[in-house]
Amino acid sequence: MPNKTPQTEHSYMQLDPRLSASCAPTSVQQPQWLAVNTELAEYLGIPEALCGTEQGARVFAGNEVPDWAQPAAVGYAGHQFANYVPQLGDGRAVLLAEIIASDGKRYDLQLKGSGRTPFSRGGDGRSPIGPVLREYLVSEAMHRLGVPTTRALAAVATGELVQREHAEPGAILTRVASSHLRVGTAQYVLAFKDRALLQRFADYVIQRHYPDCADANTNADTDAKQPYLALLEAVIERQAQLVAKWMSLGFIHGVMNTDNMTLSGETIDYGPCAFMEAYDPATVFSSIDRRGRYMYQNQPPIAMWNLARFAETLLPLLHNEDEDAETAIKLATAAVEGFEARYQEHYWQAMTAKIGLTPEHKGAQTLVQDFLDLLEQHSVDFTLAFRFLSDNVPTRLASLFKQDDVWRPWYERWQAAWPEGFSPNQLAQVNPAYIPRNHRVQEVIDEAINEGSLRKFNRLNQVLREPFIEREENADLLLPAAAGEQVTRTFC
Ligand code: AMP
Ligand code: MG
Ligand code: MG
Repeated sequence: MPNKTPQTEHSYMQLDPRLSASCAPTSVQQPQWLAVNTELAEYLGIPEALCGTEQGARVFAGNEVPDWAQPAAVGYAGHQFANYVPQLGDGRAVLLAEIIASDGKRYDLQLKGSGRTPFSRGGDGRSPIGPVLREYLVSEAMHRLGVPTTRALAAVATGELVQREHAEPGAILTRVASSHLRVGTAQYVLAFKDRALLQRFADYVIQRHYPDCADANTNADTDAKQPYLALLEAVIERQAQLVAKWMSLGFIHGVMNTDNMTLSGETIDYGPCAFMEAYDPATVFSSIDRRGRYMYQNQPPIAMWNLARFAETLLPLLHNEDEDAETAIKLATAAVEGFEARYQEHYWQAMTAKIGLTPEHKGAQTLVQDFLDLLEQHSVDFTLAFRFLSDNVPTRLASLFKQDDVWRPWYERWQAAWPEGFSPNQLAQVNPAYIPRNHRVQEVIDEAINEGSLRKFNRLNQVLREPFIEREENADLLLPAAAGEQVTRTFC
């Protein structure tokens, strides 16, 4: 691991002074390591002297600001449960720096839970240890499951209490993202009603995430470049891919507000998220989602709704000032409506792959849908059901159902559809064995709070690094919550 200074820049802070505010993290009483992601640290070029050391704990608690950092809170707006809030922003986070990784890619390094900022409103700027450990575990698990996501570099306890329903130990997460730009960031920029600023912002997003859009011509009839329409379509495509991945893993984000949807297409904000156990499209975990707006099956239409909000921010750039706004609206609407077909394509690609087929294979979609219907009717665990399809002898699959005649006819139809040379065990690379099950995550948090121990955290974190490899000694982590163990409510 290098011991020199990491390569950093501060391009977003320099974009326009209206978009962020310099803001130092607030020191905490007693920084203490909870977890460090050494592999990620190495990739990012974080000095070894900061990994797991006392100095590192001070840096990742915000007590010491290294000279390569320039902490700032970033502004954003957003629709929360469909209600527009003009000013949200980093209320409990600071961007330390953009770090240039060993392969030249740029990442934001952000402290989350680092104290009050100009965007804090009534909040304390802090985070309890529970959400920090949850985000660490789940975001890293998502990465290993092949889902684009923000990552966790470090978790440090603050030695201070945070007052929520009870007083809880505080902690700070260091989050790594290809950027923290959100649909809500674009909404924030739009609100300045300054076309030049908006264009500068959109150009920045293109340069940072979608460089191909700079020269894009999405209209075959003209030679005119349409980089902003291309940007809109690119963001829509990434989100269609992302949400299809979530759905194929039973992941429920829980709070898909427009400020929690990135422009890069990475999953962000692991507040009340959870993985579905028994298959039920109406599953909701979040305690604040009383009407089920963000339930499992609503995620695709909600993504599309959020993308319509993003499209609105680009409208001023989709036509010249002397042109008709109607045309811009038509273009944007068509792009947003295109989400549906893009999503369907990715969803069926992912779901048919889970049974070893492709969408082109005759009857593949019906087979998937019939399997899902069986899981729903018999309240069968989504993850295990697909995982057990990878057994050459379906004994474990059988154990998920009360009677053989429930699953057997479906299984025989599936067998008849197997392509030449297919063997069920190929699916062990596709359907994970281990996911961060909610009751396990809760156990980890309870142990950390009540016993000050990270034994369960470390074990679960380790197992989730290889979610497709089953080991005898981790058989317990495979299982869904038993009756009485279920954790059906999650909190931000
Ligand atoms: P979230 O629900 O995590 O998407 O956060 C929504 C908004 O609330 C963001 O602007 C956060 O920065 C802000 N926020 C959440 N928790 C706190 C807190 N403890 N102190 C200050 N701001 C907060
Ligand atoms: Mg958020
Ligand atoms: Mg949150």
